[in-house]
Amino acid sequence: MLKKTELLYSGKAKDVFATDDPAVLWVTYKDQATALNGKKKVQISGKGALNLQISTLLFKAVAAAGIPTHYLSTPDQQTMLCQRCEMVPLEAVVRNFASGSFQRKFQTEPLLPLQPAVHECYYKSDALDDPFANDEQIIALGWAKPATLEAIHALSDQVNLVLQAQFSAVGIKLVDFKLEFGWLADGTLVLADELSPDNMRLVDEATGESLDKDVFRKEQGPLTPVYQTVLDRLRGAAHV
Ligand code: 5GP
Repeated sequence: MLKKTELLYSGKAKDVFATDDPAVLWVTYKDQATALNGKKKVQISGKGALNLQISTLLFKAVAAAGIPTHYLSTPDQQTMLCQRCEMVPLEAVVRNFASGSFQRKFQTEPLLPLQPAVHECYYKSDALDDPFANDEQIIALGWAKPATLEAIHALSDQVNLVLQAQFSAVGIKLVDFKLEFGWLADGTLVLADELSPDNMRLVDEATGESLDKDVFRKEQGPLTPVYQTVLDRLRGAAHV
């Protein structure tokens, strides 16, 4: 059996450990919610397990559509095994409807449909508060090559189609989301990080209620029942 070894990285929502297989990482999902780049931090019992299960279900759906991902397996309620990859230092955001920073920036009406979906990249840096970066800035600063950016945009569009299908089947509108990508040792670009309500905005089509981390950011009530609703609906649709 695979053994967890040293802690490589402790993030806001996950810890990443090495294993005795150099190609495999052991990722634990934390019972912690953060906002405002970690300035607001709260322990939320059960959140890690919920995000892990939602992420598992969505990574499987993305992989089933032929999109390469780092996902390997989910051996227990807190752990995801992933392929080790070298991360591209970018957050790739896709927006189907105006919300969050986009809505604030352009003062649009809430949830204005965006056609085509808007792609934005942010440079991953806690010290700089993840600043927006356009393609020329990213290329000039060496964070990604033009072909990599093109691949990130194309893969993000494919992921968007898969996630939109998953959520619309259960009465949920996929407003926007953030993806991260990484390189496997063999040079394949794969979808990495997580796919959970921590990094996407979801709105109940029937009630207009938020079903994501905005509930925590805006202090609208407890988070775990909301994440449980998302999991239950996705599971119901997947007949898991
Ligand atoms: P916004 O730019 O409107 O704040 O965020 C757009 C989308 O990307 C939202 O779904 C949000 O959850 C996600 N997102 C943006 N930055 C981060 C981040 O640093 N961490 C996480 N988990 N999600 C992010």
